[in-house]
Amino acid sequence: MLTRAYAEALDAADPLAAFRAEFVIADERLIYLDGNSLGRLPRRTRERLRHVIEHEWGQRLIRGWGEGWFDASQRLGAKIARLLGAQPEEVLVADSTSVNFFKLTLAALGARPNRRAVLTDNLNFPSDLYLLQGALRLLGAAHRLQRIDSPDDLTGPEPELRAALGPDTALLALTHTAFKSGFVYDLPGLTAAAHAAGALVLWDLSHTVGALPVDLNAAGVDLAVGCTYKYLNGGPGAPAFLYVRRDLQDQLLNPIAGWFSQKDQFDMGLAYTPAPGLTRFLSGTPPLLSLAAIEPAVDLLLEAGLDRLRAKSVAQTEYLITLWEAWLAPLGVSLNSPRDPARRGSHVSLGHPDALRLDRALIEAMDVIPDFRYPDNLRLGVAPLYTRFVDLYDALDRLRTVLVERRHEQYPTERPIVT
Ligand SMILES: *Cc1c(COP(=O)(O)O)cnc(C)c1O
Repeated sequence: MLTRAYAEALDAADPLAAFRAEFVIADERLIYLDGNSLGRLPRRTRERLRHVIEHEWGQRLIRGWGEGWFDASQRLGAKIARLLGAQPEEVLVADSTSVNFFKLTLAALGARPNRRAVLTDNLNFPSDLYLLQGALRLLGAAHRLQRIDSPDDLTGPEPELRAALGPDTALLALTHTAFKSGFVYDLPGLTAAAHAAGALVLWDLSHTVGALPVDLNAAGVDLAVGCTYKYLNGGPGAPAFLYVRRDLQDQLLNPIAGWFSQKDQFDMGLAYTPAPGLTRFLSGTPPLLSLAAIEPAVDLLLEAGLDRLRAKSVAQTEYLITLWEAWLAPLGVSLNSPRDPARRGSHVSLGHPDALRLDRALIEAMDVIPDFRYPDNLRLGVAPLYTRFVDLYDALDRLRTVLVERRHEQYPTERPIVT
């Protein structure tokens, strides 16, 4: 298992291997393990954007709105719904994950007016915690944020969260796959526990969508949001998705209710009447160029099939852990991700006191792009559409070289602006 020939054999047997050719690979030596932060560019997207710019914008001009732009948020949402176990009319693409999270938080709190507690954890993405604080500030002093902390910064505090749910809980808001450790919450179990307490749930699926199957309908999930520029490969800053369960849609109100959320928008009426269904969760004009880039990328995932993607992702993170144990654990590198693949997303975090400098050495001298997450995580993301087993073999081999030859020690310890 520790030979490069073994990795090559795994690639030769990989049923998804052909999908790599669908992506722009500008530098064959570069090993890209950051598809969990920004996915690669699909070749089809390049063609699609050329068409949107030259034909739709360049020639059709304002007529484009009647030729596919106006309902692009809904059309794309319906496709992403297939990756989430949701109905086509339950998912929209608009705004950023942060904005959608804020909208759905306030909508949920409005639907539980007599409850005052919002429950979350410290593994949550910082943006979500800031937005929860901001939403509660808007509502005055009555609400409180109840944050339950992980015992080890790795595993979600599930028993403590269940115990904290109660008659005052309005909303349980969690990130399904933790961005540092890759820990995966029991989404059906916690959703059921929240419902038993009369609370709503809001799941952030940013590190889940396109990598792990979820069944939002089967679990009865109320609300969800997520990114399209990570495993969905939608491009930098691509708009995010939001999900609202069908039977809740007409009960909830959008706090950023712009004209795209208005019933009969082009009547230009002066009084606000929310559109029926999910459309009321739009706000303003969507960024069409970025929206157009998402569709061909999502098509690739649908063609590959989530079950096959998940099977390959599990095999690849298992393989990373095997190599870590043989080569890197003896050099003082720890595993900061769950061992149980059922509880692990599509990245593996390795812990080292010098993780920041290891990250720099890999990027600047070894043609490997992982990323660093404070304080000591070197994060290795596996994107099964285009990551090969030999990439994982070579990346850990190069990391081993850096450690053995202490090459990282020549780099400064200051943190760059973006990691
Ligand atoms: C990446 C990520 C986000 C990013 O939100 P933006 O509004 O797109 O900046 C939000 N939540 C989670 C869990 C993420 O991993």
